[in-house]
Amino acid sequence: MSARVEAIPPSGIRKFFDVAATMPDIISLGVGEPDFVTPEHIREEAKASLDRGKTGYTSNRGLAELRVLIASDLSSRFEASYHSDDEIIVTTGVSEAFDLAIRATVDIGDEVIIPEPSYVCYAPCVSLAGGVPVHVATHDTDGFAITASAIEAAITPRTKVIVLGYPDNPTGGAISRADLEAIVRLAVEHDLLLVSDEIYARLVYDGWTHTCVASLPGAWERTILLNGFSKAYAMTGWRLGYACAPHHLVEAMMKVHQYGMLSAPTMAQYAGIEALRNGEPDVRAMLAEYSRRRTLIVDGLNRIGLRCARPQGAFYVFPDITGTGLTSDEFANRLLQEEHVAAIPGSVFGPSGEGHVRMCYATSTAHLAEALDRMARFLGRVDGFTPHPLPSLPHRP
Ligand code: PLP
Repeated sequence: MSARVEAIPPSGIRKFFDVAATMPDIISLGVGEPDFVTPEHIREEAKASLDRGKTGYTSNRGLAELRVLIASDLSSRFEASYHSDDEIIVTTGVSEAFDLAIRATVDIGDEVIIPEPSYVCYAPCVSLAGGVPVHVATHDTDGFAITASAIEAAITPRTKVIVLGYPDNPTGGAISRADLEAIVRLAVEHDLLLVSDEIYARLVYDGWTHTCVASLPGAWERTILLNGFSKAYAMTGWRLGYACAPHHLVEAMMKVHQYGMLSAPTMAQYAGIEALRNGEPDVRAMLAEYSRRRTLIVDGLNRIGLRCARPQGAFYVFPDITGTGLTSDEFANRLLQEEHVAAIPGSVFGPSGEGHVRMCYATSTAHLAEALDRMARFLGRVDGFTPHPLPSLPHRP
């Protein structure tokens, strides 16, 4: 085994899935994916593409028609402008897009700033590329929002990239336009790249407006923008995403992509075309349902004594479990063993996640209600549990 691989811990999330899979009455709030099946018209278009014989590779960059639709979606929705012919690569999910962005830009020993708690893949991808992940803590009391001043304190002469992921997995927190502008100013001042994972950009609530960092003055030329179809269109299994950047960065990523992946799955790319053409009502319907579920779980958690903020985006809540006196690992393990409810310990997402667990509410309201009942029963058994007296904290800003 290579030293780099050996140094990387296995995913803390997988461990819970393996145990959960052995429990028939499990309620899983663990896995971060929609419970919806991909909308029927999207599945039908994929089948039709097979019937038309579209079973070969596509261009390394992805189908031209899909790239045109991606460019027009980004421009009309987020004011981010990319040429479809040479500033977009279609990838095998945002997972591949992130890996490309890092491997194409990071040299051995380069430091990559990663706010935490954050998505579990960021730091291992950086380490595998020979880079050094530098974590910047965010705090519950600020709604886990990352600020330019916290990032600035972590910048050294070796810093090359700042990773942004918003709305955030695991906290659901978004970043305001003003905070993004300050981060961009910092990136310009220190000549840093921004790798921005905006996979949850469509999943925002209560009228929140998602600002795409690439739309801000000074940002476009130093940003690699990542997005995909997994979350908004309930297409996790199709493995479809994209990376957008200035031409020279796209060319760098293309080198990695063409040798490693060749092209994203063809059938999925046809499905992506249909999603962007006709999937808007589906996105809105799923979003409305997530919004109802968010209310149910946030109110329910606060009612049973776990203080929980109302996140602006994604489909996760990140309640405070410190009133139980348990670590997040103990809490998640006991909840799983005693009540067959799967949640992910907050520490998996970085040290600042300790004292919290991540629960994904992309599951039915019946499941959420049952999970809340089981959690209330569980909390009743935790010695010395102090229900958090505070009302839910709003996310900043
Ligand atoms: N980025 C974030 C923040 C995620 O939460 C996830 C999946 O959970 C991914 C990327 C992976 O996305 P994809 O399915 O497009 O590879």
